[in-house]
Amino acid sequence: MKVLIAGGGVGGTATALALRRAGIDAVVYEAHAAGGDDAGAFLTVMANGMAALETIGAARAVIEASYPATAVSVEDAGGRQLGNRPIEGIARTLTRAALYRALQEVARERGVPVVHGKRLVDAAVDGGVEVRFADGERASGDVLVGADGVHSVTRRLIDPDGPAPRYTGERVVYGYADGNPGDGEPEAYRMVFGSRAFFGFTVPGDGRTWWFTRIRGEAQPAATDWREMALAAAGDDATPAAAIIRATRDEEVVGGNSYDIPSTPRWHGERMVLVGDAAHAASPAAAQGASMALEDAVELASALAAHAEPAEAFAAYEAVRRPRTEEMVAASARMSGGQARS
Ligand SMILES: Cc1cc2nc3c(=O)[nH]c(=O)nc-3n(C[C@H](O)[C@H](O)[C@H](O)COP(=O)(O)OP(=O)(O)OC[C@H]3O[C@@H](n4cnc5c(N)ncnc54)[C@H](O)[C@@H]3O)c2cc1C
Repeated sequence: MKVLIAGGGVGGTATALALRRAGIDAVVYEAHAAGGDDAGAFLTVMANGMAALETIGAARAVIEASYPATAVSVEDAGGRQLGNRPIEGIARTLTRAALYRALQEVARERGVPVVHGKRLVDAAVDGGVEVRFADGERASGDVLVGADGVHSVTRRLIDPDGPAPRYTGERVVYGYADGNPGDGEPEAYRMVFGSRAFFGFTVPGDGRTWWFTRIRGEAQPAATDWREMALAAAGDDATPAAAIIRATRDEEVVGGNSYDIPSTPRWHGERMVLVGDAAHAASPAAAQGASMALEDAVELASALAAHAEPAEAFAAYEAVRRPRTEEMVAASARMSGGQARS
């Protein structure tokens, strides 16, 4: 069997590695010209995601590219601590770009092809599957895995009437401040329920403070001054948020609107199937998106190894993954501050 994978992010590269372990050939086609240049955001791979990485033999590479996340403390807008708890199991913080790079490097070492500059635009199913890229080139295989993220083309090919991603009602801003102006503990997250926004930061050990803030309101254009917006949302709360944002250079800030997909009616067709955000994007609040994509990869590869008929494998995979991921997307939406808007 030959598997074509659209998307060389977390889920796509992990699926290729999981398939390789099952003895199934896969080729990853990534839209971006170079790997790992995704704008700025960082994330934490939780214990379930690390377990999936262990299964596909990529945990060491990710550990080497990341920092431990050991504890989370929570405080209110007045700076009063509301709680402090350890993070269960092994959890690791890294930039999304570093995670892409680590996975793609493992793929390269194992001889799994990752082809850049190939944006999937169409696919035709006829016994197998033939895909077409934006540059006019084509490729054919037995199965197409859509790991092409929240705005997935594969999802639309499987079901043109499927729902579009939903704006969660939150803008998310990320930044990297010089030094430790918030006096954070190494490797711990501090979360702040500010009066106007949720703010979190961690001091991973590279001489900087990594921070994010989630701000409710209308979706904003890409050209928004995200640093200014974050600073305004920090207001004059008695928390370290404003000092940390002020210690961040403009070019170290990225922001965007956050989208989720509560339920995708069709995860697969006869020869096409979705993994990761393409099937079930969550708001960032639960910090589970990457870990869920990694779990999908393991489950899909084991289903494809166990069933001769792709559609049977897809159904088995969906039966395991749909309930858990939909529950997580809903939990994350609640954590994001309530019902997201269409
Ligand atoms: C701001 C933010 C913060 C987050 N924080 C966390 C966190 O703390 N913890 C966590 O676990 N998750 C977090 N996530 C979610 C996490 O980043 C995603 O869930 C995860 O990256 C999903 O992996 P994926 O492979 O499905 O999609 P992606 O990682 O988005 O990869 C999709 C890939 O497909 C490529 N692509 C897109 N279209 C095409 C096409 N037509 N043809 C070919 N390639 C294509 C893209 O270039 C990209 O490389 C966060 C997400 C955001 C936006």
